[in-house]
Amino acid sequence: MTITLYNTATRSKQPLEPIEDGKVSMYVCGPTVYDRAHIGNARAVVVFDMLFRLLRHEYGAESVTYVRNFTDVDDKINARAAEEGRPISEITEETTQWFLDDMAAIGALEPNEMPRATAYVPHMVKMIEGLIEKGHAYAAEGHVLFKVRSYADYGKLSGRSVNDMIAGARVEVAPYKEDPMDFVLWKPSDADTPGWDSPWGRGRPGWHIECSAMAYELLGERFDIHGGGNDLTFPHHENEIAQSKCAGLDFANIWMHNEMLQVEGKKMSKSLGNFFTVRDLVDEQFGQDIPGEVVRFVLLSTHYRKPMDWTEAKAQDATKTLRKWAEQTREIEFDPLLVSQDAVDALSSDLNTPGAIAVLHRLSKKDDLVALKATGVFMGLLRPEVVDLSNMRGWVILERDPASEMIEDLIQARNEARENKDYAKADEIRNAFVAAGVLVKDNAEETTWTLAAEHDLSKLGALK
Ligand code: AMP
Ligand code: ZN
Repeated sequence: MTITLYNTATRSKQPLEPIEDGKVSMYVCGPTVYDRAHIGNARAVVVFDMLFRLLRHEYGAESVTYVRNFTDVDDKINARAAEEGRPISEITEETTQWFLDDMAAIGALEPNEMPRATAYVPHMVKMIEGLIEKGHAYAAEGHVLFKVRSYADYGKLSGRSVNDMIAGARVEVAPYKEDPMDFVLWKPSDADTPGWDSPWGRGRPGWHIECSAMAYELLGERFDIHGGGNDLTFPHHENEIAQSKCAGLDFANIWMHNEMLQVEGKKMSKSLGNFFTVRDLVDEQFGQDIPGEVVRFVLLSTHYRKPMDWTEAKAQDATKTLRKWAEQTREIEFDPLLVSQDAVDALSSDLNTPGAIAVLHRLSKKDDLVALKATGVFMGLLRPEVVDLSNMRGWVILERDPASEMIEDLIQARNEARENKDYAKADEIRNAFVAAGVLVKDNAEETTWTLAAEHDLSKLGALK
């Protein structure tokens, strides 16, 4: 079975052809550790966790190397430590453990290697020295800068030209920069900031060089897949490529980027009050725990290259579905060899997670419970052991108001009718919505509805 993946670098889907036959290596940019991971961070983690699981399934667990770093040196961390009057290491250690706990709660396996940037500073210094020697970087006033114009392919990954970037960007014009586009590889530290001795004085690395150095140390000159959220494409990944290529490395073959997550149609932000950490959700959103599997299900229900919306309705539907599947498969013995090939095929096609979830729905409907259990566990959506969810916090089905429930059930019935090419049924439901004053809007990813000022839901009754 060939796995095809969309490569940002070539803007096309391509077969995964491992550099070393039968082995796959993957690097994913991890968190900067100064705060709880939010639900958007979790999307990136769950997406690449699903890819990791697929790769292990295809190539065998011992043949896949997955590296995800912790950025534990960063000015945001220094600011947080100063704000709280606590040592930096206390903040980074605490936050790292939170991250691991929260990601475990949503079923993410631990990567094989989780390097911390601070453990690789000598490697970064060495790489920077090499870049200076080759004329791709220069030291000035305690800083070292990467000479963007020394790398002809700069901007290729993100599809930008250097001149457009200069015109459009709010680039920091610092006196020590030869060119406004040049970015920092190393910067000086004062007595209050963490620093390491270097040929350019006591200082600390810039953010981008970390990933280049750690990927090289742990995966070598070239590796198969590099991942992260699409907010990292520029400048972070563009800069990683420039540094690594100029250091004489091949670097990554396939670049994968997940789209961003929003909440109820809006950008997630603290000021809008729609900012959720993973901990908020699995702790007490809606007054009770949301099971980690439910968070995971919602995140996987949209394809990773589409923007997605976190909504309360999705979490509630996911709870219902997962609870049903868990109950159906409660007594079924888990057999990892019986994962549905249809689900694996869907995932092998550029990680089509909604397609794989559709397979789970079919297995549930057909009562193919052995495959449902195996595939659900494989995707991190069901537990291998026997559990009774009926009294467990979070698995109690949340009450929806009956009108919303009826409308959403009808939308689902209409979508199923369309999928089954039962257009008469789909039209009947659509006409009933029109008559009742339910305004249904189909977006690319999902269907939303509102009520017209004049509406009469009793007109839906006949359909039930
Ligand atoms: P950060 O700690 O902000 O650098 O982000 C860590 C990871 O989470 C990166 O891969 C980001 O691309 C990803 N990420 C941040 N915000 C979102 C979001 N709203 N939706 C999806 N991924 C995100
Ligand atoms: Zn990175």
